[in-house]
Amino acid sequence: MDDALPAVYRGTLLHFLRDPGRDDDPDAWELFEDGALAIGSDGRVRWAGDWSALPDRHRARVVDYRGRLIVPGFVDTHIHYSQYDMIASFGAQLQDWLQEYVFPVERKFGDRDYAERISGLFLDALTACGTTTAGVYPTVHSVSVDAFFAQARARGMRMVCGKVLMDKQPDAPEFLSDAGVPQAEEQTRRLIERWHKTDRLTYAITPRFAPSSSDEQLAMAGRLLREFPDIAMQTHLAESRPETASVLARFTNARSYLDVYDRAGLVGARSVFAHSVHIDDQDRSRLAAAGAGIAFCPTSNLFLGSGLFDFAAARSAGIRVGLGTDCGAGTSYSMLRTLNEAYKVIMLKESTKPESRRTTLSALRGFYLATLGGAEALHLDDHIGNFRPGKEADFVVLDWTATPILTHRTEIARDFPELLFAQMILGDDRSIEATYVLGHRAYSRT
Ligand SMILES: [Zn+2]
Repeated sequence: MDDALPAVYRGTLLHFLRDPGRDDDPDAWELFEDGALAIGSDGRVRWAGDWSALPDRHRARVVDYRGRLIVPGFVDTHIHYSQYDMIASFGAQLQDWLQEYVFPVERKFGDRDYAERISGLFLDALTACGTTTAGVYPTVHSVSVDAFFAQARARGMRMVCGKVLMDKQPDAPEFLSDAGVPQAEEQTRRLIERWHKTDRLTYAITPRFAPSSSDEQLAMAGRLLREFPDIAMQTHLAESRPETASVLARFTNARSYLDVYDRAGLVGARSVFAHSVHIDDQDRSRLAAAGAGIAFCPTSNLFLGSGLFDFAAARSAGIRVGLGTDCGAGTSYSMLRTLNEAYKVIMLKESTKPESRRTTLSALRGFYLATLGGAEALHLDDHIGNFRPGKEADFVVLDWTATPILTHRTEIARDFPELLFAQMILGDDRSIEATYVLGHRAYSRT
């Protein structure tokens, strides 16, 4: 077998110990130009450092990736596997887009065979882009969760997923609604029991978003979260202005959209809120105090015209932030393409602030976001996100010469940050030479 463990992967290694911040704090990241990544037979990192310093006890079969960049597997903190069919659907903003394109497709996931087939295609698409962990939305159907988790488990991947909860018309159409709160609770309990902490899987309570859940359903979700404190919670928050206005019109006692979730007991350390574009400082303080995460989804926010996420404000408030592709509203499965758009969204948002306070997204901070930052947002950084000894060895091999323009830009780059920035802006799925899950090759370009 050509990917038998233990093994040592030789190449340029880059990983992060924490957020390098706006000034690329040199203590926050490690770069080994001729590096060695030693993986044990259990698929975990044994040692990472300079090739010349590799201790004898970690010597094993060598896989030679010299001239390529090895980084931890990308973490996509927000994506819908159920929308695999309808990415690139034209011309609508959030709520119309859901009714026109998303719901008719999600209806098909009541069929287990269909859900399994799409799960397989979806996971292939992720690994081909270097993504090894994701916060995934299925549909309202229990079988859509079974199908997805079964496929992810067979591939040994670390994944977060949970049945979508939705029961309030018109934002949950009748053909996609839970039959009642007790039934939705019962199904969720069964799924938690079946899948949570099975191998590398994490269950997430997943109310689609406040408009599509009844008050009783939101309260039930909060009760389950209290009962099972180590499961995750994922939902959408303040994605577009009309959506945010509709939430405030319905929940007249709530101070803000986030407060609706807070009152239901859904704002906790393992909660991840997608988008969070239209929030204020008080919301940011609350999210930071709770230890909750935000999934920043730039391609989706641009595609649906939802608005510009304030990345700098979220990070300076101390909120955990990861990147999400949010496909099918997002336009690419590639985290490199997502970083490219994140850079631009941040530029545009910062241009509205006084010059002295502006920030930009450096390549180092971008790669932090796509790896350890995502793991922190999903509260999985004990397991994944960097090459510390004991971490699960999910990693990606990136090619500096994937396209002619990238090759040229690479050749004339003056230093590593410039080189990495070229990859962040010009790279895409063509840059992914190989993707490894627990030390085993899950994707190879050739
Ligand atoms: Zn979404």
